[in-house]
Amino acid sequence: VEETLVLIKPDGVARNLTGEILARIEAKGYQLVDLKLVQPDRELLSQHYAEHEGKPFYAPLLEFMESGPVVAIRLAGNRVIEGFRSLAGTTDPTTAAPGTIRGDLGRDWGLAVQQNLVHGSDSVETAQRELALWFD
Ligand code: ATP
Repeated sequence: VEETLVLIKPDGVARNLTGEILARIEAKGYQLVDLKLVQPDRELLSQHYAEHEGKPFYAPLLEFMESGPVVAIRLAGNRVIEGFRSLAGTTDPTTAAPGTIRGDLGRDWGLAVQQNLVHGSDSVETAQRELALWFD
């Protein structure tokens, strides 16, 4: 069965939305295989976001992601990678569709980085790489 890495980012944890986000994931029928609260360090985050190095939002992104605890989830289900990204909605919370996590709960704070509550791996290869980083 397919697996993905889901992160509830520091804004989601700080805004007490962990339960609400987990409820949506569980209601959809995906299986929680492993779950932990972590304070990611810069080393982990720079590996996780290696593809964004050099982009204007890279430094604010790392700063935001290390600003507080994150919930890391190993999530399983049929087509869960695509399915979770659909549940999450598009990157920008302002235009993310209503009914999605980011569309319903995300706020645009007008900051240099989108504090958009969640992360989900975007391919099978990325999921394997990210799950190894966060769980192995
Ligand atoms: P994720 O990978 O976290 O699920 P995503 O695939 O929608 O999100 P990516 O393009 O991988 O987005 O970017 C990773 C994260 O960097 C985004 O979730 C967001 O927090 C931030 N980000 C991406 N693009 C921008 C941007 N143009 N301006 C500000 N922040 C951005």
